[in-house]
Amino acid sequence: MDCKGAEACVQPYIDGTLGDRELGAYLQHVRSCAPCRRNLQTYFSICYLLEYVDKDEAGELSYDMRKVLEEDMRRNEHRLRIRMVLRTIRHLAVIVGEVVTAGAMLWILYSDIAEAILKYWGLF
Ligand SMILES: [Zn+2]
Repeated sequence: MDCKGAEACVQPYIDGTLGDRELGAYLQHVRSCAPCRRNLQTYFSICYLLEYVDKDEAGELSYDMRKVLEEDMRRNEHRLRIRMVLRTIRHLAVIVGEVVTAGAMLWILYSDIAEAILKYWGLF
């Protein structure tokens, strides 16, 4: 992702509407690009303060905006890692299922031949 692409992701990042791929690319860019990180820090701080003002009850307001943004980015990176692991597990489950199905179909189709081979080897 380049700086122009990152600029377009600031508001969606704050709104939490970026897809996994975009979010990952954006976080990676912001981690390594100081101007884009400052840009995010500015918008993030404004939104954080506006959200605080908007609340009726006085919650805990942190003035350490860098820390708040860092925590938010870490939370998002952690969520991305978990989703990536779950996606990998899902893909593996699909692959295992396909292999088992293909094996079963081959066994049904060629069971006579397999039986003959196993008998020939003295395994059946
Ligand atoms: Zn940049």
